[in-house]
Amino acid sequence: MAKSKHTEWFLPEDQRKALAPYFKDFKEVVPVHLFVKAGQNDAYADFAHNLMKDLVRLTDKVTLSLHSDDAKASDSFAVTRFPTLLIAPEKYSIRFTGAPAGEEGQAFLHALMMVSTGNSFLSERSRELLQELQEPRVVKVFVSPTCPYCPGQCVNAIKAAVEKPKLVSVECVETGENPDYAQEYSVGSIPHTVYDEKLSTVGMESELAFVLQLLTLTAAKDMAQEEGRADKDVIHHDLVIIGSGPAGLTAGIYAKRAGLDAVVLEKGIVGGLVSITPEVENYPGFINIGGKMLMDMIHEQAKQYVDVITGQTVEEIKVGRNLEVLTQDQVYVADSVIYAAGASWKKLGVPGEDRFMSKGVSFCASCDGFMFKGKKVAVVGGGNTALTDALHLKNLGVDVFIVHRRDSFRAEQHLVDSVLREEIPVHWNSVVEEIGGKETLTFITVRHIKTGETERVPVDGVFLAIGIVPNVQAVSHLGLAQEPGGYIRVDRLGRTSIPRIYAAGDITGGVQQIVTAVSEGASAAMAVFEDQTRRKAESAARKA
Ligand SMILES: Cc1cc2nc3c(=O)[nH]c(=O)nc-3n(C[C@H](O)[C@H](O)[C@H](O)COP(=O)(O)OP(=O)(O)OC[C@H]3O[C@@H](n4cnc5c(N)ncnc54)[C@H](O)[C@@H]3O)c2cc1C
Repeated sequence: MAKSKHTEWFLPEDQRKALAPYFKDFKEVVPVHLFVKAGQNDAYADFAHNLMKDLVRLTDKVTLSLHSDDAKASDSFAVTRFPTLLIAPEKYSIRFTGAPAGEEGQAFLHALMMVSTGNSFLSERSRELLQELQEPRVVKVFVSPTCPYCPGQCVNAIKAAVEKPKLVSVECVETGENPDYAQEYSVGSIPHTVYDEKLSTVGMESELAFVLQLLTLTAAKDMAQEEGRADKDVIHHDLVIIGSGPAGLTAGIYAKRAGLDAVVLEKGIVGGLVSITPEVENYPGFINIGGKMLMDMIHEQAKQYVDVITGQTVEEIKVGRNLEVLTQDQVYVADSVIYAAGASWKKLGVPGEDRFMSKGVSFCASCDGFMFKGKKVAVVGGGNTALTDALHLKNLGVDVFIVHRRDSFRAEQHLVDSVLREEIPVHWNSVVEEIGGKETLTFITVRHIKTGETERVPVDGVFLAIGIVPNVQAVSHLGLAQEPGGYIRVDRLGRTSIPRIYAAGDITGGVQQIVTAVSEGASAAMAVFEDQTRRKAESAARKA
């Protein structure tokens, strides 16, 4: 959230307008306590205070108690870090350690809404599970303002705290404002969740996985493996779409509008890769738009038509009379499947990469960049993503340099110009051979491919941007015809080499842009409709 030009308000007018209908659903008054202390994160304390002053002006359902340099109040609420916000501390244990800036503003507003309505908005299944909890639990979620996944994980935790106020205590910690705290918990990638000091996880999780982990203090993926698929529920649809990036969501819109009973399954956050893209400048209709905002808009539209179910990792597709789509806890039986699972980052495959993954090695500059403010990091790669990441990191105040294996970039000219203008150093014709350190990542070894010379360069982090590989794991056993690089071969309408299985978006290779993913999603949905209609007509003719 940015500062408004209008001095009397902190939030810009468009954000204030967007909040007005949101507050209409509030019921009870939510008391918020803000603790600040001079000399401790002053700029963030100002941010939190200004934000709260605006919220209190926008609704009479939120009140503010400011505790400024008030040792007694801090002691009585066990506040040791500043700024800290407590939401309705008389009833709930919901704490924001650090200002809820950027993406975290969403989690803070959700928390106010849940507390005001007394509704945790948990699914029935999660709520039932949480009833089994009998002991207290303390959850810490480490976040940053630029991480699009973080609010989702904080909201998971806050839902549990609202559902079980006497047992569940939640703290959302802004990592950049509390680096020592993050270090204490070895936070390398965010969101990083600590369950009762016994279990730590990285990444946003489905609500159900979060609740299970809170209950059992065991990693949900381990539990799924133990349980097997014996007691999975079976659900039938005309069409199952795998992946909720631009291809999957568009396919959902088109399928439902064609009268198909469709569902979209997503393993992570809705929106796919675009959700972590800071800016999009080549999607027609928008001169410049944040990737997350664009995907939020497409998701809003898709929701009018189709269910988008998160927390569903498709592990396998079985081909028989019907198609069976198997996730960790469900079986979806479908007449057709559109596989729109996109692509993932390529790894370097060098020593130390796996050991320091999420502990200094990252694929997501917009998520983890904030933690490297004032530190030194390498970006590996020379394409659009590498240059965008390097510029983003530089903008955050990171001491960044690029390692690129060629002698020129393969990126859009305006990005190349910006990198040169910002004087970001580049190791040309160089590759990373090792990522190393003792407890923490402290160096990379860089080899010049022409001279063969190696150099040990001290770094605190490494961001990898060396390309993507198709996410074909769930279909690799099917023997679908492939393009070079393992991409799935399709015809103009997304039909693969196996009838009833279609593919769309980055998974098919080619141009790999939002606009092509959207177009392929629409085409594949129309092909499903045509093919199912034809099969039904043929079947009716046979019976007649
Ligand atoms: C840093 C970066 C910047 C970019 N900038 C631009 C840009 O400015 N303009 C532009 O046009 N394009 C840009 N792109 C490319 C664009 O993001 C992709 O072309 C687009 O996201 C492809 O959409 P998709 O739906 O095919 O796949 P994705 O967006 O990758 O979505 C696939 C979805 O499937 C889910 N999934 C994967 N496997 C499974 C499974 N087994 N079960 C359930 N769900 C699964 C994933 O979690 C993901 O949400 C950029 C890409 C990157 C990496």
